[in-house]
Amino acid sequence: MNQEDHFKQVISHAKEYGFVFPSSEIYDGLSAVYDYGQLGVELKNNIKKYWWKSMVQMHENIVGLDSAIFMHPTTWKASGHVDAFSDPLIDNKDSKKRYRADVLVEDHIAKIQGKIDKEIKKAAKRFGNSFDASMYRETNPRVKGYVERIEAVETRMKQCLDDGNLEEFKQLIVDEEISDPVSGTRNWTDVRQFNLMFSTEMGSVAEGANTIYLRPETAQGIFVNFLNVQKTGRMKIPFGIAQIGKAFRNEIVARQFIFRMREFEQMEMQFFVKPGTEKEWYEHWKTERIAWHTSLGIPESEYRFHDHLKLAHYANAACDIEFNFPFGFKELEGIHSRTDFDLKQHEEHSGKKLQYFDPEINENYVPYVVETSIGLDRTFLAILSYSIQNEKLEDGSERVVMRIPAVLAPYKVAVFPLVKKDGLPERSREILNSLKGEFMCQYDEKDAIGRRYRRQDAIGTPLAVTVDHQTLEDGTVTIRERDSMKQYRVPSTELSKQIREAVY
Ligand code: ATP
Repeated sequence: MNQEDHFKQVISHAKEYGFVFPSSEIYDGLSAVYDYGQLGVELKNNIKKYWWKSMVQMHENIVGLDSAIFMHPTTWKASGHVDAFSDPLIDNKDSKKRYRADVLVEDHIAKIQGKIDKEIKKAAKRFGNSFDASMYRETNPRVKGYVERIEAVETRMKQCLDDGNLEEFKQLIVDEEISDPVSGTRNWTDVRQFNLMFSTEMGSVAEGANTIYLRPETAQGIFVNFLNVQKTGRMKIPFGIAQIGKAFRNEIVARQFIFRMREFEQMEMQFFVKPGTEKEWYEHWKTERIAWHTSLGIPESEYRFHDHLKLAHYANAACDIEFNFPFGFKELEGIHSRTDFDLKQHEEHSGKKLQYFDPEINENYVPYVVETSIGLDRTFLAILSYSIQNEKLEDGSERVVMRIPAVLAPYKVAVFPLVKKDGLPERSREILNSLKGEFMCQYDEKDAIGRRYRRQDAIGTPLAVTVDHQTLEDGTVTIRERDSMKQYRVPSTELSKQIREAVY
């Protein structure tokens, strides 16, 4: 199955089984807004729990926060979002489609990179074992030309973004002969800046009301509470504040399902450190965060780091952790060394000191910040798209199985009576009742047992427990594993322990 078909399957599977629905679907939906269904909400909650546990519960020096979505409007002036939170956009006059100019250029670079990869693959086949890819990149004139072209385009784009030179940005698109993937033409408008914040009014009447913004990131709620938490929690630097919550961005191009939404959720942690130590902590959090991702059992090859070409106005180092989504490697999480920019800006705009007294050196200072910021919905999509697998079985039949990491699976265990008589449903319910206080469980007595297994495979339930006539005699039940499809008998009294070991 190619990538595109796989992505289509992910979207339709998510809808069919109640993971993700288009928002207000009966009114034909709302662009780039989605609802999470009965299974989606479980998976989402489990991702949040897994993140919260690793960040807050496992770190003595990281605490949580739940700040409001609405914040004083000056917050966004101070953070730079009112003036600078915008993307360069460009329209194609023929297709009437709108694009982010930087994304168009990045896709163009990816195409050239694709040509390099193809050349290298071809050469590797030709030269066999003795092939040295890096030498080939440096010496083959065609490949060398492509590499240089990528470097030139990247440098030029960085310059345009740094200078805010939109005319030159348009010229870059013209010079590189980038055409619209939909119309195929190069009939472009000028490049313009577009602010991504949603605004609304606070107060009962519009006149005299204050314009307020829906937060575009959760981070600022942490910064404005920095001293509240530090003082009341008696926190000593280095320490972190973690928060999970909604963020809103009026994205120019909102496609790719839940990858780019207008309302989404972030899981952010701001780590406050002594100035001068931020680069060390930046490296530390890079290592920690990639370890978190791979701890879910998804291979490391599905992730990669991408250093930022253009640093945001507040950062002195920044990278993304990218995931191999069905549409290629794209950003899943950002790790940013934000310096003291935010706290200093809030000091300036509020007139309040946001400083830390360091008892070790007897001095006050504004701490530096290293941030880890991960999209909850993108993590959801990464898990979903990696997990769905079409498997051919030994007997020639096929199954769709969602190999969701057990710790995140919506249901941990399903309980089935082998047949719907002889007291087996009653015994199954007893077992279910003994488990449901600890695990999300599902009961199913409809259809043949094989079909019931398939239904659980399709929603990612790691274990199924079958109750049969032998259960009534000796108290044992059959456990069937989703991934291996192996079955074994255990005393029902040991179920809770066995499930706990398998899913946590
Ligand atoms: P992108 O370059 O893809 O627009 P970004 O660099 O603007 O993302 P950040 O501001 O670093 O994103 O936000 C941190 C995280 O929040 C991202 O890594 C991503 O997982 C998530 N995120 C950002 N924008 C969206 C969105 N529109 N929909 C879903 N998740 C998002």
